[in-house]
Amino acid sequence: MINDGAVAYRGDDDDQVGPPSIPSTLKNWTWLICEHRGLVYPATAGVAELAAFLARHVEWAASREWIVDFMEEIGALRRAAHGLAPWTVHVQELVGPCPGCDLRALIRTAGEEWIECDATVGGCGGLWSLAYYNDHVSEILKGKAIS
Ligand SMILES: [Zn+2]
Repeated sequence: MINDGAVAYRGDDDDQVGPPSIPSTLKNWTWLICEHRGLVYPATAGVAELAAFLARHVEWAASREWIVDFMEEIGALRRAAHGLAPWTVHVQELVGPCPGCDLRALIRTAGEEWIECDATVGGCGGLWSLAYYNDHVSEILKGKAIS
């Protein structure tokens, strides 16, 4: 983080090993914005209040040279939080038919290496690698091109 002369907030987890905690990161950015804008630092604010504070000042922050660092750190927090307690799971429905049962019930869940034939919609529940699925679709398309 580029502080531009501001002194970093001394977080509650400064003695910990590893990446900074969500509260500590939000406190650091809030502290920086308060220092630059002459605002009183909300010392007793929780995570939700800190996030709301940052959201209120994000337009101003967007014009600072450290906005890239801000975005990278907040983006990393978002990814970490989503990894700990996902609020959405992205499921891609594939158009090709299942190599096992020929139904169009294949899905790929974000982060998974396998393609699944969705048994909840009548599929066979089979698992296929992406490479196998791509080969299967290529073979189908070749057959359609010939006929
Ligand atoms: Zn199937």
